[in-house]
Amino acid sequence: MSELHTKTLSEIAALLKSGEVKVAEVVADCLARIEATEPRVKALITVMAEEAMAQAKAMDAAGPDPDKPLWGVPMVLKDLLTLKGVKTTCGSKILEDFVPFYDATAVTRLKDAGAVFVGKANMDEFAMGSSTENSAFFMTANPWDVDRVPGGSSGGSGATVAAGQCFAALGTDTGGSIRTPSSFCGIVGLKPTYGRISRFGLIAYGSSLDQIGPMVRSVEDAALLLQVMAGHDPKDSTSVDVPVPDYLAALGREDLDGVTIGLPEEYWGEGLDEEVKEACANAVAEMEKLGAKTVPVKLALTEYAIATYYIIAMAEASSNLSRFDGVRFGYRNKKADELIDMYTASRTEGFGDEVQRRIIMGTYVLSSGYYDAYYNKAAKVRRLLRQDFEKAFAQCDLIAGPVCPTTAFVKGAKADPLQMYLLDIFTISANLAGIPAMSLPVGLGKDSSMPVGLQFMGAPFSEPTMLGVAECLERHLDPMPMPEL
Ligand code: GLN
Repeated sequence: MSELHTKTLSEIAALLKSGEVKVAEVVADCLARIEATEPRVKALITVMAEEAMAQAKAMDAAGPDPDKPLWGVPMVLKDLLTLKGVKTTCGSKILEDFVPFYDATAVTRLKDAGAVFVGKANMDEFAMGSSTENSAFFMTANPWDVDRVPGGSSGGSGATVAAGQCFAALGTDTGGSIRTPSSFCGIVGLKPTYGRISRFGLIAYGSSLDQIGPMVRSVEDAALLLQVMAGHDPKDSTSVDVPVPDYLAALGREDLDGVTIGLPEEYWGEGLDEEVKEACANAVAEMEKLGAKTVPVKLALTEYAIATYYIIAMAEASSNLSRFDGVRFGYRNKKADELIDMYTASRTEGFGDEVQRRIIMGTYVLSSGYYDAYYNKAAKVRRLLRQDFEKAFAQCDLIAGPVCPTTAFVKGAKADPLQMYLLDIFTISANLAGIPAMSLPVGLGKDSSMPVGLQFMGAPFSEPTMLGVAECLERHLDPMPMPEL
């Protein structure tokens, strides 16, 4: 096996474009890496070895296309993004054999830019979870320590990128599912502003919260992928018609003079593990050295964020998942005689425990008599939370804090669902507010020796500022090594 897989996406794209390496070599290297590491990491539900090799050879025969920024670059998709003709399971038994007949818009854009897909990544069933332990198929391991979880719900995407099986993966983030696994696996993950990337072809969990985003090994790679995927799509009415700026042009700043970073006390106090706090605080100190000013900001409603998020996300999930009835999609119980029994049996056998728990709770908060007390109340708190952010961003350019209160934990350590939900405390507010947020690896925790991610949050469409600041900080931190596998 060569060392090609240790390069970043931007580096490999340049080598491919210049003809210095062939697509077939790069794809073969990734496939060899998959073969060598998958028995331990188990990041992928589907490996597309033959398709990828055939595509690579055809591309090499045609020669590099300078207009395609991702020409020949091997990538992986979270298994809830539709890829025409390839099984898309959502990590669920109910969609075990579902083969979509269309591509997600984000996928079309990556294809048009020249990407080669080598696999589809494991995930918590229907993206419900923070550890990838809720997959119906198997658990994924953290490449830094295979006894630990990779984070979730895009844990397969995080692990495949950290393990060097590909150069980038797409994840989705409804309440932290890009940022948590990025933090746990030591990679860069970006959840863009709601509406920035089309959700067409993303199998919905919480439609008002879901966003697709890149999971990669450098900030530059994140900027490049955002550039390719961002932009209005008539197939998604919530995708916004706001001009797409030049994200790569925002990179390369010399220092952080003139940048104000807000530090919310709610994110830096109680409940935060000491090693996470220390690694994040060191990164903030580095930003100060680079000229950034820090100011305290208040996000007073943070303590209500978990309750608000879980009411809204479960309500939306109960409605979105009603389409999986055994008739139109996926698994069907063939023994039931009556239609209603067929629905019940198909859904009972097809959905896992966590998904059923959420459908039941989501249906409850939407039912008459409880709608006002729960759903409507949560919707109001959500608006207030958004206003909190607006006030904070009047005082600062970006907010910085930890992604997660802990580093990656040992599998099985958060068996109580509530303990798992509490991990989302720092990530879910960005989804409720619709603002962009990212995880930047800032080193290893001194106790667990596991990666720590620093989170940036910004006002809507502030991705250029966020990427610019993150890339400057990234350049001044010790480079993040790849895990030894
Ligand atoms: N952990 C959160 C949940 O289970 C977030 C998941 C996500 O972002 N998809 O809902």
